[in-house]
Amino acid sequence: MIALTHTGGQTWAVFGLARSGLATARALVAGGAQVRLGDDTAASRVAAEAAGFQTLPLNDAALAGCAGLVLAPGVPLTHPAPHDVAAAARRVGIPVIGDIELLLRELKPDVYGITGTNGKSTTTALLAHLLQAAGRKAALGGNIGLPVLDLPRLAPGEGAYVLEMSSYQIDLTPGWHARIAILLNITPDHLDRHGSMANYAAIKARIFAGQGAGDTAIIGVDDDPCRAIFTALEMEKSGRRIVPVSIERVLEQGVSAVDGVLYENGKRVFALDFQALPGAHNGQNIAAAYAAGRAAGLAPATIRDGVAGFPGLKHRLQRAGIVDGIPCINDSKATNAESTARALASYPAIYWIAGGVPKAGGIASLQPFFPRIRHASLIGQAAADFAVTLGDAVPHAICGTLAAALDDALSAAQRDGANDAVVLLSPACASFDQFKSFEHRGDEFLRLVAARSSHTPEGAAA
Ligand code: ADP
Repeated sequence: MIALTHTGGQTWAVFGLARSGLATARALVAGGAQVRLGDDTAASRVAAEAAGFQTLPLNDAALAGCAGLVLAPGVPLTHPAPHDVAAAARRVGIPVIGDIELLLRELKPDVYGITGTNGKSTTTALLAHLLQAAGRKAALGGNIGLPVLDLPRLAPGEGAYVLEMSSYQIDLTPGWHARIAILLNITPDHLDRHGSMANYAAIKARIFAGQGAGDTAIIGVDDDPCRAIFTALEMEKSGRRIVPVSIERVLEQGVSAVDGVLYENGKRVFALDFQALPGAHNGQNIAAAYAAGRAAGLAPATIRDGVAGFPGLKHRLQRAGIVDGIPCINDSKATNAESTARALASYPAIYWIAGGVPKAGGIASLQPFFPRIRHASLIGQAAADFAVTLGDAVPHAICGTLAAALDDALSAAQRDGANDAVVLLSPACASFDQFKSFEHRGDEFLRLVAARSSHTPEGAAA
């Protein structure tokens, strides 16, 4: 835990106690501050009280006299409408910040920050792994892993905080400054919370705020919003280094991942044949982490070895195990068609398990990938609709449960005997009809595969 000594003697309000909120409260108290805690949900209030804290309604009177309000990133600050507590803080005239702002104020640490619409967790975990594999100290947190104030205290120069930043967290960190900052990509997402694409892109661009000489900006240049930000960065006379990243073309200046090869400034560096990171989209994540590793002073060969040793992330194209020679892949994190498209693009002969609670549009957008799908085993609420979309183009069966779907997919794969066959759980759906969460669904798949497999499942980072 990082005691927030700079807040000693002050009173702080903390709203949103589910995850990072309690860690923040402990860090404030350990630094000598008083805290006033609130949450909308009874379960979180009970958990806070079980941890020895009192809670109260954070109205104007409770916020008056506080040095600031620490808001959990899940609580609306502006869109679609400010939460009551954010509006009250504004009325009372106190700042609203997040836990990462407190970390920065306390330690003024070396921060490597990662954002983007997709690939944040993978790139953040990969970069932390590369640094650690090279013998550096790196603490991983933010939107992934531990709340930042539960991370170890790193002395200046001792190591870096490698932080996954959601747009909400960027919004709550007015003093943000990353020595190395990565913006992977921007596609429409969470617009309900950000009002418009322009506002969403503007928040993402703040990952580069405060940078100057000695700092590095790494930015994907394959989508329009990111290209516009890249151009704007180039026009600023900030003194920072700017490294573009592409998976569409080999850049003369920058890092590229094209046709299975990683290039730096147009020169081939190594082949992208890492089992834990398949697909072109992971090429983008590897290229960005490579650029960051180089900016941190790592040699290309050290980075290559580090990537090769990366176990991958759980529930994202994770190798769950092999059953009778057929690899089974757990991509339970793919809760919408866009994510499933990345998975379908990553394998040539797919025995696909899909379904659950469908998103708007269903799987119509996945039609270009249908030729790769040899058979689909459908589960949950979406099964009948997905069957209609697949029609005659893809053989399919409505299986009901995940266990039945796995058996159906395995027997179809065995019957066909195709080379390169994989069984792929990439549901393109939320999980709530049959599971508590996508993690629960993925864990269940891992268990089912392990029960049918003579091999032990391959490890993945949590
Ligand atoms: P995030 O933390 O941004 O949600 P993850 O690394 O957890 O991203 O990956 C989630 C899903 O997003 C993956 O399963 C994959 O389908 C997709 N994805 C990962 N990296 C990328 C990328 N660079 N571009 C597009 N999609 C990606």
